[in-house]
Amino acid sequence: MLRIQSFTVGPLAENPYLLACTETGQAILIDPGAEAEMLQQAVIDAGVTLTAIVLTHAHLDHIGAVEPLRHWAKVPVYLHAADDWLLAGAVMQGRMFGFPVEPVAPAEHKLAHGDRFSFGKIELEVLHTPGHSPGSVCLYASADKALIAGDTLFYRSVGRTDILGGNAQTLIQSIEQRLWPLPDDVRAYPGHGPETTIGEEKQLNPFVGLHASWGR
Ligand SMILES: [Zn+2]
Ligand SMILES: [Zn+2]
Repeated sequence: MLRIQSFTVGPLAENPYLLACTETGQAILIDPGAEAEMLQQAVIDAGVTLTAIVLTHAHLDHIGAVEPLRHWAKVPVYLHAADDWLLAGAVMQGRMFGFPVEPVAPAEHKLAHGDRFSFGKIELEVLHTPGHSPGSVCLYASADKALIAGDTLFYRSVGRTDILGGNAQTLIQSIEQRLWPLPDDVRAYPGHGPETTIGEEKQLNPFVGLHASWGR
């Protein structure tokens, strides 16, 4: 079974997630954006073995604790290739947002649409959902009806598309083509704010829901 632990870190209130396979104790860390020591302690307290750090995209608020955690846990980092430039531009992003950032080394592995990503007995499917950034992905655990949504879909909102490679039309298309076909009772765990479900957002999301007019 998949166990999902959520955290909120940093000045932009970003949500990292610790995903663990309850049978094997293997786990992955999603989007460690800040507060490396707190996240490290959380992994220790959970009693799990980290096998990878997976990034939904490479905006600054999702990558701030990648370097210390990848060295501490000795695990590789996964990212969609279309966001490599953002990871390489971590220091530039820091200047834009007004806080100093250390350089981040490139991701060891690439995520591509349709990839199956496994840890323990858990399998995630990679859904490429560009729009908030070119290399944004969501991670779908069909057996556990869970979606790690990154900054693509939020509770009653969507990721902004006016910064660093964003595009509103692309975002709408990604959500309509890759998220709305998922079952209504899939729980979505976003990069900011509270959890929601696919069914609720399909009905009620004011930007991309079935009754929304934004961008059309
Ligand atoms: Zn973002
Ligand atoms: Zn974010």
